[in-house]
Amino acid sequence: MTASNGNGNAQSPPRKIVVVGGGIIGVMSAYYLSRHASFRRGIDAITLLEASGIAGGASGKAGGLLALWAYPRCLVPLSFRLHRELAEEFGGAKRWGWRSVGCGEVECLGRAVGGSQEGGEMEGEHVGLGKREGQGEVSSAAAAARLKKAGVPKDLDWLDSGAVKGYEAMAESGATAQVHPRKFTEAMAAYAAEGGVEIKTQARVTGIEYSTDGSAVQGVTYVDRKADQEMKLPATDIVVAAGPWTQRVLPTAPISGMRAHSVTIKPEREVSAYALFTQIRLTKDLGKSGGKKARKTEQTVTPEIYARPDDEVYACGDGDRLVPLPSTTDDVAVDLNRCQDIVDYVGSISAPLRNGEVTARQACYLPSVNASGSGGPLVGLEGTKGLVVAAGHSCWGIQNAPATGLVVSEFVFEGRARSARVEGLDPRLVM
Ligand SMILES: Cc1cc2nc3c(=O)[nH]c(=O)nc-3n(C[C@H](O)[C@H](O)[C@H](O)COP(=O)(O)OP(=O)(O)OC[C@H]3O[C@@H](n4cnc5c(N)ncnc54)[C@H](O)[C@@H]3O)c2cc1C
Repeated sequence: MTASNGNGNAQSPPRKIVVVGGGIIGVMSAYYLSRHASFRRGIDAITLLEASGIAGGASGKAGGLLALWAYPRCLVPLSFRLHRELAEEFGGAKRWGWRSVGCGEVECLGRAVGGSQEGGEMEGEHVGLGKREGQGEVSSAAAAARLKKAGVPKDLDWLDSGAVKGYEAMAESGATAQVHPRKFTEAMAAYAAEGGVEIKTQARVTGIEYSTDGSAVQGVTYVDRKADQEMKLPATDIVVAAGPWTQRVLPTAPISGMRAHSVTIKPEREVSAYALFTQIRLTKDLGKSGGKKARKTEQTVTPEIYARPDDEVYACGDGDRLVPLPSTTDDVAVDLNRCQDIVDYVGSISAPLRNGEVTARQACYLPSVNASGSGGPLVGLEGTKGLVVAAGHSCWGIQNAPATGLVVSEFVFEGRARSARVEGLDPRLVM
């Protein structure tokens, strides 16, 4: 999708566009900038500066759910369609696991689980993911009848039948899809590079330089972390897409980060394509004390579980604000106890997960907008000439990245968004 507006004719001075951040938002901005009709390869320059590696933060560790029922409405339908078109154009089904998925809310009663060594609320007996006895009950007629009674679709055959108490589809067929976010972001970075974007990793932006009167951007300063050297890069246009780090580059941006843990599991057997929002009630037996009756404690946990192609299941838990945002994605602290909690929770309702192999335990920071009245993201002109903000995508950044990138390219080359009505996301409303 491109446009010509006379803005980029051969006579106008070269544009030097700098994108700050190599997460999915920065990468998709760079990609669509390189595809814009006004981009003159060989005259204009697009440079993406990434402090660590491409998709090292949330963009590489997210679930990857795409949904027509996501928010904000001004980006969602366009972005959902662009995801499909990109998958068709570049073979995304194979390259980054794009596909339609079923999606539902499921209420379960979990088997007794272990819990983290420290701070875990469900200590005691432990259901790990080693090869334990499977329940084998989903194949039995009684188990199938139980699942049917709970409303579980027939092909969702990887939940323990005794665990499921209720199931509700969250969207009609075709309204929910998925990608593998890291594979998608890496592939699109490669296409952006093919289109003329220079990608510099290990390049952490330390400041934006402005004209003397402060009315226009002039460039950025950054640290080349490989050479341990301070560098300067002139710029006519700067797109700040630094996710939860955005405020460190642009102090007036009301964006913060919340840590969230996730795991990936190689299930014991193939599992069908479902994304599940769970509500799992867990009971722990605290045993008898002082001749009294055995005491039990209850807890409800809500991990999200996304089956992926290629023998992978992703699951994530709640967020926390215990550890402030570190300086780079390389320094994110992973609390293995929290990862184990997620493993235990999802194992408490599914034998193929319980008996599978944990392949990653990880954490990242979710970027969110703190301004009242704005659920984010912020996408648009900041007010200073040449400065564009694209950040604060909260839990729908994977879904909304293509539309964000497309309108960013329009803001840079045309001065306004043409493909979507994003006035409600205007950064000037809150900055
Ligand atoms: C557990 C979890 C599950 C999620 N699941 C989904 C999902 O299923 N579907 C969905 O749509 N969304 C999901 N999200 C949300 C999604 O991951 C984010 O909205 C999205 O990744 C944000 O992308 P970003 O590029 O803005 O930020 P990031 O991915 O954080 O990227 C920002 C990049 O900027 C770089 N950077 C920072 N400072 C600088 C600097 N000074 N100089 C240069 N580079 C810098 C960082 O190194 C980083 O690579 C999930 C998020 C979490 C935490």
